[in-house]
Amino acid sequence: MELQKLFYDGKIQEATSGNVFQTINPATGEVICNVQEASEKDMELVIKSAKAGFSKWSSMAPVERGRILQRAASILRSRNDELAALEVLDTGKPISEAMVVDVASGADAIEYYAGIAAAIHGAYHDLGSSFAYVRRQPLGICAGLGAWNYPLQIACWKSAPALACGNAMIFKPSELTPLTAIKLAEIYTEAGLPNGVFNVVQGSSKVGQMLVSDSSIAKISLTGAVGTGKKVMAAAAETLKHVTLELGGKSPIIIFPDANIEEAVNGAILGNFYTQGEVCSNGTRVFVHRSIKDAFLKLLIEKTKRLKIGDPMNEETHIGALISKEHLNKVLSYIESGKRDGSTLCFGGNRYHPKDPATTNGFFVEPTIFDVSSDDDRIACEEIFGPVMTVLTFDQEDEVIQRANNSAFGLAAGVFTSDIKRAHRVVNELNAGVCWINNYNITPVEVPFGGFKQSGIGRENGWAAVHHYTQMKTVYVEMDKIDYPYPG
Ligand code: NDP
Repeated sequence: MELQKLFYDGKIQEATSGNVFQTINPATGEVICNVQEASEKDMELVIKSAKAGFSKWSSMAPVERGRILQRAASILRSRNDELAALEVLDTGKPISEAMVVDVASGADAIEYYAGIAAAIHGAYHDLGSSFAYVRRQPLGICAGLGAWNYPLQIACWKSAPALACGNAMIFKPSELTPLTAIKLAEIYTEAGLPNGVFNVVQGSSKVGQMLVSDSSIAKISLTGAVGTGKKVMAAAAETLKHVTLELGGKSPIIIFPDANIEEAVNGAILGNFYTQGEVCSNGTRVFVHRSIKDAFLKLLIEKTKRLKIGDPMNEETHIGALISKEHLNKVLSYIESGKRDGSTLCFGGNRYHPKDPATTNGFFVEPTIFDVSSDDDRIACEEIFGPVMTVLTFDQEDEVIQRANNSAFGLAAGVFTSDIKRAHRVVNELNAGVCWINNYNITPVEVPFGGFKQSGIGRENGWAAVHHYTQMKTVYVEMDKIDYPYPG
């Protein structure tokens, strides 16, 4: 594949840094292509183009902004298969997922915010002899920093509300997955987005830091690890930027004895092995009531055995490759620590080498299930971000709520039960930003997504994101005369 460059001022541009980095196909370990890294000088040019873009875009009628976004969503959908294949090449996730989720959920976000653009409004207050109104204005230039697990979807989830609200965006994908954000930039331009409104810079965290420290940038929206969130928030404080942080998790799924066991097993598999476990909201602590645990584990293992690992381009594959060799080693080291700490390995637990010589060196790990006796074991409390499920046993409702909440994270939670009162009672007590009852990991664009505690700040999706990409301006209008303030 050809050398990848930057995108600003409405077109692909050469970087001036002279530095390139490689992007690797996780399924083969081979280099896909080189990518140019942005320099400080490039960043100045990108910001100049974003300023010009913002000036034009923010003064356009919202309905026209919506029309352009709508066109972008349609183009994205029409290029679904090609973009899904590119995402698979860069991430190692199964094509069967990318074909129906990655591009489509990105297009859903753009479509949703295209519809909302013209509905964003302020407020009016009658104050007797005067009145006041509140405008909802864009923030300016917003920066998006993306993680590598859903590169295109993340670029869409950040840019769609930002642009609908009249902002410009500079997006930096993870250096591990640089390929699809540039395609999104081309699609926006084809749809009629003015130059400079959506820009892509490439590079490592160094380039991310340039964005976070630049005083021309009004907001940072990061999807990434908790540690990165802390650094970004601290650095953003220097210029008091707005921040939205979508960070990691170690979310609980609680399965009560009255749950439909087959559906609970399906939910646990969906919440642990999709995208080979590289999903922030995964329910990796599966609390199962003692009375059903044997039946649950039996069915879980039976269904996990059927999962096919290997070439992510093969439509029959369920478990693709982890993002990098480094990440593969991290996941394997967690599996080793689980074995050392005395947890029972119920299934998997090994690196997997497909027979096909093309993919035999890919970064594959078997879907892995541990029966864990202590909540304090590393595998039961740290985010692994791979296909490793920990099953824990509980007896009482109060006890499981307390254990589920005993985490620094608070991104998501799931409850499986057929008792409607219990479902809502338990959800009410769980410290998590997104909860599912009798399902898991469903993220419709209409509803807010984001975490409690160290899993994040702010929300993506739904109307909530409009609040995070706009600022209010209160305008008081006097209709009467003004008295002298110091009578007598
Ligand atoms: P990272 O935190 O390593 O990186 C996220 C992005 O931030 C990348 O573009 C990265 O650049 C950049 N970055 C890293 N350090 C800095 C810095 N100091 N200043 C500015 N930018 C920086 O996350 P990963 O890409 O490894 O993604 C995995 C993590 O993301 C997991 O913890 C996961 O839970 C979380 N995540 C959260 C989601 C959510 O919505 N809550 C969804 C998906 C993932 P580069 O990669 O090029 O170094």
